[in-house]
Amino acid sequence: MARADSMRAVLFYAPGDLRLVEAPLPKAGPGEVVVKIKAALTCGTDFKAYRQGHPVLLAHTPSPFGHEMAGIITEVGEGVTTLWEGQRVVVLNSAPCDRCFFCEQGTPELCEHLALLNGAYAEYIRVPPHITRHNVHPLPEHSSFHAAALAEPFACALHAVDKMRIQPGETIAVIGAGNTARLLIFALKAAGARVLIMGRNPERLRLAIAAGADEVIDLTRESDGTAAVRRRTAGGRGAGGVIEAVGKPETWVMSMGMVRKGGRICLFGGCAAGSKVELDTHRIHYDEITLFGVFHHRPAHVRQALEVLSNGAVPPELLIDREISLEEVVPFFAANRDASTLKAAVIM
Ligand SMILES: [Zn+2]
Ligand SMILES: [Zn+2]
Repeated sequence: MARADSMRAVLFYAPGDLRLVEAPLPKAGPGEVVVKIKAALTCGTDFKAYRQGHPVLLAHTPSPFGHEMAGIITEVGEGVTTLWEGQRVVVLNSAPCDRCFFCEQGTPELCEHLALLNGAYAEYIRVPPHITRHNVHPLPEHSSFHAAALAEPFACALHAVDKMRIQPGETIAVIGAGNTARLLIFALKAAGARVLIMGRNPERLRLAIAAGADEVIDLTRESDGTAAVRRRTAGGRGAGGVIEAVGKPETWVMSMGMVRKGGRICLFGGCAAGSKVELDTHRIHYDEITLFGVFHHRPAHVRQALEVLSNGAVPPELLIDREISLEEVVPFFAANRDASTLKAAVIM
């Protein structure tokens, strides 16, 4: 039984070392709120951090852990006027500062003060002022906590699709078929694209179709992904755009062959630090290929994500594999070390 001034929280001590501990109950300072977490989602980033650590996210150990969450406000700090106790909300893991060069340029995802918030695997979280101001969003009445917690990863997918500037009906090929790819499918279909998904796992390819992909390419049967995409586009020209959602140098390179002349390549999957790729300069120059990276999300994408999620357009059962309790978080990470694409909802 927890004391009245403490709570249970999962902390990250070192790679492979998570512990469920008693921690002090957080208090809301000026401009802050405290949220009782009702649902937190595991994410590929968490699994990666669990295996390797994370120089930015988990700089000081033991560190709070987990970043996709929704819950109920239990305390409102001095000066907070737009949120109140008892409100059901989704809490994002960052918010722009509004003052730096990049915020002023209209690229808040590149904000120089994008201090990321961890601590979703806990009974309560204290939300710092910059996030309280911009990125704590009330939930529509009928939306569930675990569906709303998808706002963070879905906002990242919407950001990528926004940057793609989709022409209605054009073909977009996605390399990868995991959870992220499914979120991209929902975002791409909403933008009017024809979506081709590439992967190797039959269950994931089946889920891609259930999520609305127009066609899937099973790379265990058609090993040449470039030829497979070209076969499925008019005149064998290639896709109008490609989204790389794996994060491996070889798939970054593979994406280059799949686009038509004038096509765009969105490099969505982050590779390991220090990775290098070799690019076909001739292709980029003469065929006017645009390559761009995309990172994180903007508050506008979060609002858009919540709107789509509350319409029921994204069935959470296609994205969340299972429900677990807070007590099961540590064994769940230990047992699924390498299964980064599993997404569990921690229900509290
Ligand atoms: Zn995440
Ligand atoms: Zn900023």
